[in-house]
Amino acid sequence: MSNAYAEVIGDPIAHSKSPMIHGFWLEKLGIDAAYRAHHVTPDTLADYFAQRQADPNWRGCNITLPHKEAALDHVEDRGGLRQSIGAINTVLRDEDGILIGTNTDAAGFYTPISGLDLAGETVALIGAGGAARAVLFALKRADVGAVVLLNRTPLKAAALLASFDLKGEALPLDAPVPAVPLLVNASPLGMAGQEPLALDLDPLPNDAIVYDLVYVPLETELLAAARARDLDTVDGLDMLIGQAAIAFELFFGKAPPRDHDDELREALIS
Ligand code: NAP
Repeated sequence: MSNAYAEVIGDPIAHSKSPMIHGFWLEKLGIDAAYRAHHVTPDTLADYFAQRQADPNWRGCNITLPHKEAALDHVEDRGGLRQSIGAINTVLRDEDGILIGTNTDAAGFYTPISGLDLAGETVALIGAGGAARAVLFALKRADVGAVVLLNRTPLKAAALLASFDLKGEALPLDAPVPAVPLLVNASPLGMAGQEPLALDLDPLPNDAIVYDLVYVPLETELLAAARARDLDTVDGLDMLIGQAAIAFELFFGKAPPRDHDDELREALIS
């Protein structure tokens, strides 16, 4: 019996779906290792990394709120993520025992829409927080032409666009939705316990895709409105599973069996 393990850390942590996702793949692949949730408070973060760095069984960790930025202080930032996404969600130990921080959210976001050619296109994005930064990182890599960023505080959105050297405009949440091929919600609006995201989707073309990062509930009002208009949709579980898949391969050296995604989604919803 191996003692190898990876884990997700956060404060609180009991709600995390990561143990279920990684546990599902470990079982499917018959890998003798564990993935667990571990409660780490801000004042114990430094001790946590010092202990895990010395633990040969530890394969790495995922990081959730509130440590995604603070964790950068305890790892090597080889990808310059502090200046771009501004946060990490995965930490690994390299062959020399050095802790390295990375971020799988941007690639997890992009995977479900990787078939789209967004080069030169204008994309609409709602929100200017941590999730929006990962989305903008991916959109910049996809060479989008411009981003229309709708946010409660447009000034913050304008600064964010500038920090990614992206063309576009920052508008308030009640501005009309532009006629774009992709609209992404990276704000918490529409999440259980939050206000709904009330957008008029009429200006979107008939082949537009509406992507909501919120995954509780899975069918947000935004996605329901998009489906009512017969638009293609991507929900937040796609990104959640996508970012986990990249981390899983980094921890355990094998790609997860994505042909079981339907079964995994069922398990996550129930
Ligand atoms: P966050 O940092 O708290 O988001 C802040 C953003 O939301 C800011 O733009 C803020 O506007 C706006 N906002 C917050 N409350 C608002 C309100 N009541 N009215 C209007 N705007 C409001 O959150 P986050 O970490 O970026 O996450 C955003 C969402 O993405 C969450 O629902 C999260 O669960 C989801 N998410 C999903 C995945 C996935 O894998 N599917 C990954 C990451 C995040 P101001 O700038 O005006 O303050």
